[in-house]
Amino acid sequence: MIQITMPLNFLGTVYREIRQALIDMGDMFDLLGQPAEVKDKPDAKPLKVDGGRVTLKNVSFGYEAARPILKGIDLDVAPGQTVAIVGSSGSGKSTIGRLLFRFYDVGEGALLIDGQDVRDVTQDSLHAEIGVVPQDTVLFNDTVRYNIAYGRPGASEEEIISAAKAAKIHDFISALPEGYDTTVGERGLKLSGGEKQRVGIARTLLKNPPILLLDEATSALDTDTEMEIQAELKAMGEGRTVITIAHRLSTIADADRIVVLENGHIVEEGKHEELLEANGRYAHLWNRQQSEEEPA
Ligand code: ATP
Repeated sequence: MIQITMPLNFLGTVYREIRQALIDMGDMFDLLGQPAEVKDKPDAKPLKVDGGRVTLKNVSFGYEAARPILKGIDLDVAPGQTVAIVGSSGSGKSTIGRLLFRFYDVGEGALLIDGQDVRDVTQDSLHAEIGVVPQDTVLFNDTVRYNIAYGRPGASEEEIISAAKAAKIHDFISALPEGYDTTVGERGLKLSGGEKQRVGIARTLLKNPPILLLDEATSALDTDTEMEIQAELKAMGEGRTVITIAHRLSTIADADRIVVLENGHIVEEGKHEELLEANGRYAHLWNRQQSEEEPA
């Protein structure tokens, strides 16, 4: 009996581990939707990033042919620029992130990084150059060290600690009885939303990608933590191309450019003050959120 149950238990554990890992991966890339069935071309080359310019040229896309989500989007994000994408729920903000990651192929037009069509490069090289900080960082049931090092397997202890320090989570980790060996995640120490975010930021800092995709990462945090995390995200964005998918406008008011999506089109583009001045769609969204956020 033992002989039978042992392997079964073992297989059960392995199965659960694999399943959990897949769920974790799925959650981590929630922003990016389900992994697509896109395949590398036989002659796909590694992406060569030189600055990290992201260009959408007349991009149209729909998950289903009958329902277009993006219709002829033109967007150029210069190297080192921070562009925020805003728009009402379902307007296609996250879809742009999924296309950037090439989880789906554009229906029409092209998406280029430093002039290279994402369809012509290997997906591994594409994913290596883009860092994602999702809304809710999902932790693996493993040590804090593993969870940070996941950003770059093989990173040295010094590199991990330096990333944790930059993400302002090192002191917290050091104070844990088992330090960096503490198991976190569902079956370990549960971290707060802010702590999880910081682990996610440390992970991304370690990966050190030239292009960052932020799915406005602070929705579940209290105001103080949110402000701190915002500052850390901003610091992380220095010298990188950043595309922020924003739900709350207060967090992106200082973006180099704000792009407003509506019904599959870019309906407005500019800096925060310019858009308020224009008194159009953005100003409407802004005023609505301001009144919602006012204390009763
Ligand atoms: P939110 O602010 O609510 O996160 P969003 O602007 O990021 O919204 P997207 O997630 O890009 O919106 O979704 C745009 C539209 O595409 C929505 O109507 C959504 O229902 C649809 N959609 C998203 N993912 C899929 C999918 N995998 N299959 C079919 N439709 C999808």
